[in-house]
Amino acid sequence: STPSDYRILNETDLRNYLAETPAVTAQLGGSADHWSITEVGDGNLNLVFIVKGPSGGLAVKQALPYVRLVGESWPLPLSRAHYEHLALTHQGRLAPALVPAIVHHDPALALTAMELLEPHIIMRKGLVAGSIYPAFTDHITTFMARTLFFSSDLALSAAAKKDAIASFAGNHALCKITEDLIFTDPYRVAEQNRWTAPWLDRTAAEIREDLDLHVAVSRLKLKFLSSAEALIHGDLHTGSIMVTDTETKVIDPEFAFYGPMGFDVGALLANLLMAYFASAGHEQTPGNREVFETWVLATVDQVWSAFADEFLSLWRKEATGDAYPPSLFPGEAGAARLEVERQAYMARLFQDAVGFTAAKIIRRILGLAHNIDFEQIEDTKRRATCEARALRLARTLMVETASFTSIEAVTRAARESR
Ligand code: ADP
Ligand code: MG
Ligand code: MG
Ligand code: MG
Repeated sequence: STPSDYRILNETDLRNYLAETPAVTAQLGGSADHWSITEVGDGNLNLVFIVKGPSGGLAVKQALPYVRLVGESWPLPLSRAHYEHLALTHQGRLAPALVPAIVHHDPALALTAMELLEPHIIMRKGLVAGSIYPAFTDHITTFMARTLFFSSDLALSAAAKKDAIASFAGNHALCKITEDLIFTDPYRVAEQNRWTAPWLDRTAAEIREDLDLHVAVSRLKLKFLSSAEALIHGDLHTGSIMVTDTETKVIDPEFAFYGPMGFDVGALLANLLMAYFASAGHEQTPGNREVFETWVLATVDQVWSAFADEFLSLWRKEATGDAYPPSLFPGEAGAARLEVERQAYMARLFQDAVGFTAAKIIRRILGLAHNIDFEQIEDTKRRATCEARALRLARTLMVETASFTSIEAVTRAARESR
């Protein structure tokens, strides 16, 4: 049941509501009658309004009591707006330049007014167009390293960590979407599944019968269910990132909870790899996307390497948590042994990221929610060719994860799958 003060705001309701919210009127300026309001939500779940006044603009996001993509038949708790606000607050504290500033939050209306990102575009659209973003790697690795490290047991006391886990534990309905749509449905017959038929019919059937793959994805699901390593964004694909040539902003953390760090890293790597595989389908003249393709694979390499470097340097300098007590690693020998262990930790995290990368690719090609990287390839046979290459890599990454011991091995395999 929805809280009694909740109502879905239409444009008039929103104008009246915002006119009575001082933080908002200060940002927009002028008279409320003259503000422009446009609903732009292109995501799967919520309403997003762009509101502009003479002094400035805002993005206003309101959760609906159901999944927008599907309709009222699929209810979804409004509390996700609370978790999104909580996660955005955490991210804003740790990486203020990399998320939109919060202007106003109303828990009863499940509504958040935030900084309008303009002229930023959704990164996925830029990637489909073949644009390159030179500052992106530095920004996103800082976002991931800081938000993950500072919510982990490497930085937090055990008590603070457990309280933090508890504060996100109620977001289980959003976790359940991931558990079903990413880790389960693509591997079985499910009503919501779809793929580029008829070309991928056989591949989809093979994946539904591939027990090695079912074991591998079930291990990943178990990790997602049980590993409360850090506060993860939970939906860190290129549709949750807005960019310009010089700026990067992460939006939409409504899936946030304490989960495995590799899930965020894998989400990002998967979406960059899908941009690479889809690129051949957007080629206008032979080789016209070569610069882009080289850049996007180099970005896959650098995202992992720079993330690992940044995470490790935080660990060396800011290890205030209860994990790895310094008293157990005294002197030079202790320091050296701990450094070896840090590298081993990153190697395990890399393995997780490789597995989650694979899971995120497979769900976008065989599950409910697809992405424009592939969907905008109009010739379905050509699209299926790109998707089949991505699926082939994903299956190998998931079943033979241990054989990928470096990010270069992943990008090499991606190049060889083309
Ligand atoms: P959903 O949870 O429904 O996916 P998102 O938070 O991803 O919603 O927002 C949907 C769309 O609204 C984004 O793809 C983007 O185009 C737009 N949007 C969201 N936040 C902002 C913002 N702060 N500034 C500008 N546009 C935004
Ligand atoms: Mg979104
Ligand atoms: Mg960085
Ligand atoms: Mg969302």
